Amino acid sequence: MSNERNRYPQVEIDLGKLQENLAAFQQRCQVSSVQIAGVVKGFHAIPEAAKVYAAAGVSSLASSRLEQLRELRQAGITAPLMMIRIPMLSELEELVRWADISLHSEVAVLRALDRAAGQAGKRHKVILMVDLGDLREGFWDWRDLTAAALVVERELPNLELAGVGTNLGCYGTIQATPEKMRDLVDAAEQVEAAIGRRLEIISGGSSSSIHMLLDGTLPSRINHLRIGEGILLGGIWGCDMPFMHKHVFTLRAEVIESKIKPSYPVGELSVDAFGRTRTYVDRGRRRRALLAMGRADYGESDDLIPKEPGIKVLGASSDHTILDIQDAGRKIEVGDILEFDLCYATMVYLTSSKNVHFYFKEDGQ
Ligand SMILES: *Cc1c(COP(=O)(O)O)cnc(C)c1O
Repeated sequence: MSNERNRYPQVEIDLGKLQENLAAFQQRCQVSSVQIAGVVKGFHAIPEAAKVYAAAGVSSLASSRLEQLRELRQAGITAPLMMIRIPMLSELEELVRWADISLHSEVAVLRALDRAAGQAGKRHKVILMVDLGDLREGFWDWRDLTAAALVVERELPNLELAGVGTNLGCYGTIQATPEKMRDLVDAAEQVEAAIGRRLEIISGGSSSSIHMLLDGTLPSRINHLRIGEGILLGGIWGCDMPFMHKHVFTLRAEVIESKIKPSYPVGELSVDAFGRTRTYVDRGRRRRALLAMGRADYGESDDLIPKEPGIKVLGASSDHTILDIQDAGRKIEVGDILEFDLCYATMVYLTSSKNVHFYFKEDGQ
């Protein structure tokens, strides 16, 4: 992909840093006997980067999109693949084809999945999800959870009940705490009592559970986490991880206009390109730059983090980004390339955009 090097907008993924983040994180998991599913949806499962996870020996690669798991398999990745969005009834044939393990909360889906697995001549592992208050996927009533576990265990020969899991912090903003983890272990132990054996996996959530792994408060029976953001960003909200690289991803975009203009629009205000009313601050005449990328590429312009001091993102339309560069430390001209750090949201959008070019930095380059 070396020819992509001078094409913009461009996202550079530093595979060496990614590899080091994975190694540093896995070392901490090993101390606590926790296995990780490497969640690759944050960068659209781009195979070059996903291969770094496979090489690191994560217990599985995971995504919420079946298409991404298919692409990983077709890219030659042989590691177990985990589907972490509870599946659609309409995709179960594809699910047994491309994934080895998946998360569930509906008995009707489990029954249909058993038939699909049987037809494919495969045995598929399932994890039953418990909703502990975040109000996204999962069984709410633990009697329903146990009943579903018994159905899988006794009636669905092509499924293997691998364990239980939970997800916190994604919708309801509910924090993953040791109390929530103990609730999850309690739920798992109720299932174990009903089926009469120990479960292989108790999956204690996502990056929002990492702080407990690091401070030693994760209950010892939690032996699995599904980690995306924490490894990709080298830290998450409320949990700094100084032992990881922060800037695995770098966005570069090209300046297509650099001019001094008023900072307050001239004429009668109406709505912007996306139909929203906006407010503008009159700061007089200022030097501004336009970049050849926009919200179609990265979502919200407020989420862009300019690397150079003195550059401020003013706003954007689908395909243009407007910057205030008056206070930049240098003269920024047409054709210049500006760099930005990414947050999780911009990473998700940019890596899904057909307009973005990817460039991979290997170790030592
Ligand atoms: C996205 C997702 C994860 C990973 O979340 P991060 O915050 O990126 O670690 C884990 N589990 C499920 C069910 C998810 O949808």
